[in-house]
Amino acid sequence: MAAATTETPVAYDVAIVGQGPAGLAAQEVLVEYGLTTVIFGPWQVVRKFDWAGMADTPFMTELQDVYRNCPGSGDEVRHKVTTIRPLEDGNGFTLVDQEQAARTARCVVVASGTTPRSLFGDNPQFTHCVFTKIQDLTEALVNKFHITLVIVAAAIVPTLLLVERLVRHYGTGSKIIVSTTTKFEPSMVLDRVRADSNVDLREETVLTSLVTDEEKQADVRAVTLKAETGDSEETRVNCDYVLTLLGTFPNTAYLKELDVALGDKKQVLTDDHYCTPVSGVFAAGSVRQSPCDLIEAMHQGRCAAKQAISYVEALRRRKP
Ligand SMILES: Cc1cc2nc3c(=O)[nH]c(=O)nc-3n(C[C@H](O)[C@H](O)[C@H](O)COP(=O)(O)OP(=O)(O)OC[C@H]3O[C@@H](n4cnc5c(N)ncnc54)[C@H](O)[C@@H]3O)c2cc1C
Repeated sequence: MAAATTETPVAYDVAIVGQGPAGLAAQEVLVEYGLTTVIFGPWQVVRKFDWAGMADTPFMTELQDVYRNCPGSGDEVRHKVTTIRPLEDGNGFTLVDQEQAARTARCVVVASGTTPRSLFGDNPQFTHCVFTKIQDLTEALVNKFHITLVIVAAAIVPTLLLVERLVRHYGTGSKIIVSTTTKFEPSMVLDRVRADSNVDLREETVLTSLVTDEEKQADVRAVTLKAETGDSEETRVNCDYVLTLLGTFPNTAYLKELDVALGDKKQVLTDDHYCTPVSGVFAAGSVRQSPCDLIEAMHQGRCAAKQAISYVEALRRRKP
């Protein structure tokens, strides 16, 4: 006679990892459908609305509604997930957060997004400094203070488009210095940006150090730059802000105990229906596809949620 197996009680229908646009859009669909959900992650206003100039569009209103409505519907854990393990009986997953608390769910929507690459390794001070200051930077530019901004960036057209936009829309008296380790490919936007006397493009240079305020370590005072090749001296450039635009990498470390497949950029691989190879694990947003804009991230969150609904319904049909 086969041994009786005891099913582990499972607390939630769906766990969502990440409170960005993808995770919140997924949660909205799941809650509306009537499934029980728990959403993990430090609640965080979507980054850099301002860059897209999208503040007053209907899309932004919709996004703000998602933010307003979601926290509170379904359970919320303002911690990061550190590990996800399949339950032994195969009926779901245990999610362990950074406080070592464990919660169980029948399926998981992975929407943990990406983290910007930092020039400064794991030093949280500088990551913090660079990314929280973007808000101040925009304000400074909008208010037409004369500032000097150093952008350390990959030599790609979007970098130049951003620079052009900053100069055109905000920077009457401000100066922008772009440091990149390679050369920009010839393009019309390169010609336009080069012709602007407020922009100084320093190709084939590396940033060698950051000089910060002695007391307020998070405040940048200058950078030192050096030509990538040859024995040239370091040059000091006094500046008010440093912005790094070096791309991002997906937040997937917590998935190591699952057989989720990762691509060459460590993004979560799924089929066209947002399903990973692990049954009951779905992925959406920039953790799956980067670059990915907000609208696409929300769309994917909703699609992944619909897959999660079908999955839970199928489980229910099997086990009345
Ligand atoms: C500099 C920059 C400018 C941008 N500008 C625009 C723009 O103007 N317009 C536009 O449409 N898009 C823009 N984007 C893209 C936009 O930010 C993304 O498309 C969108 O944020 C992706 O949403 P997401 O939910 O997939 O991921 P994210 O927004 O990254 O959200 C993921 C969330 O998961 C959380 N998380 C991470 N790890 C864990 C974990 N282990 N456990 C729990 N939670 C976790 C994170 O804290 C984060 O809150 C920009 C992106 C960057 C980097």
